[in-house]
Amino acid sequence: MSTSHDAIIIGAGSVGLPTALAMAEAGLDILVLDRAASPGQGSHKAAIGGVRATHSDPAKIRLCLRSLEIFRNWHVIYGQDIQWIQGGYTFVAYREREARLLRALLTDQQHQSLNIRWLNRPALLEVMPNLNPEGLLGGTFSPEDGHCSTLLAGHAFYAEARRAGAVFRFGEEALTILRHGDAVTGVVTDRGTYTAPVVINAAGAWARNVGTMADESHPITPDTHEAGITEPVAQLLQPLVVDIRPDSFSANCYFFQLASGQVVFCLTPDPPLPGFDCRETSTFLPLVSRRMIALVPRFTHLRVRRTWRGLYPMTPDGLPLIGWSPYLQGYLLAGGMCGQGFMLGPGVGELLARMVTHAPLSLDDEQILSDLSPYRQFDGQEMLR
Ligand SMILES: Cc1cc2nc3c(=O)[nH]c(=O)nc-3n(C[C@H](O)[C@H](O)[C@H](O)COP(=O)(O)OP(=O)(O)OC[C@H]3O[C@@H](n4cnc5c(N)ncnc54)[C@H](O)[C@@H]3O)c2cc1C
Repeated sequence: MSTSHDAIIIGAGSVGLPTALAMAEAGLDILVLDRAASPGQGSHKAAIGGVRATHSDPAKIRLCLRSLEIFRNWHVIYGQDIQWIQGGYTFVAYREREARLLRALLTDQQHQSLNIRWLNRPALLEVMPNLNPEGLLGGTFSPEDGHCSTLLAGHAFYAEARRAGAVFRFGEEALTILRHGDAVTGVVTDRGTYTAPVVINAAGAWARNVGTMADESHPITPDTHEAGITEPVAQLLQPLVVDIRPDSFSANCYFFQLASGQVVFCLTPDPPLPGFDCRETSTFLPLVSRRMIALVPRFTHLRVRRTWRGLYPMTPDGLPLIGWSPYLQGYLLAGGMCGQGFMLGPGVGELLARMVTHAPLSLDDEQILSDLSPYRQFDGQEMLR
């Protein structure tokens, strides 16, 4: 097989799928390659579907504000139900340390037009009556954040991208990025050769390997995280809860209830579990259930149906890497999404489409690209990972 395109995207995941849609809608002839048999089979299918613009980093806030708009309006624009629920996010504080950190971030978050405020204990309990009141100091509340089904959203992006003309080739592994002099000319896979002046590395936790095909060394390493889902129960939980208080074996934990009643939950292990091993551990469930029951005592008798483990493509500062290579013309990296690739994907996809079509970039775009440059110093840190 040999075809010619305006751009080739390596990876049909949380970033590659919305990017294919944005670019095909911008009129580009797009080829998406993925070695898996169908869309969203990398980290995408492990994500639990939380979508927030509540970050500490301004670039992530701006990108996710746009993603929120896309998820929120999806049903109206494209007609498919992706089970979007605008239930908000709350970052709860049971200790002065977290209360101080969360409050300190508010001014910058509000400056980026994020709808977020601090609720003291009684106000937060009014929003979330099932939260454990003991020791609760308060928390942030961002009512425009929400969640949706990663499965439905992934398929919706895939279907719309195809409808807009993007071509997908599954079961094909990118092996070589072709070049002529200092410019990209295409990709060789195990089944064909495809030409294009632009190649986008959206290979998630594998983006470092793909980068080596362009002689780049991207600081992206996989960390493994587990998640789980319970049986469905009557609605008792809204908004999505994040507890950033570390304990002896975990850095944070977050959970929410789907419209269909199941509670989905995640935990960030401490110390981290680096690598590609996605077998479930025996430590996750006891750890996360203890934390969840402490936060919502009504969870005590909730039965868990299933757990799974997936990959976060991590960077040194917890922020994505987005930008053109200064060494190889036409090579564009959109990787290192860490634990927020699903929520970043749609905003990132539109930004990439503007870059590839040479549409005028706004000052916001320029700032985002400067903050998230793959070649930055990594001297900051995302505080709300
Ligand atoms: C337990 C868990 C919960 C999470 N919850 C959330 C959440 O609530 N919200 C959120 O925003 N994020 C969440 N995440 C993080 C999110 O899943 C990732 O950040 C996101 O999926 C990364 O998207 P990506 O497109 O970069 O990578 P992926 O979705 O992994 O896509 C990369 C694709 O590239 C393909 N690929 C790789 N190498 C090659 C090659 N050489 N040739 C061809 N194809 C290749 C892979 O097959 C894969 O399909 C969670 C992650 C985990 C593990």
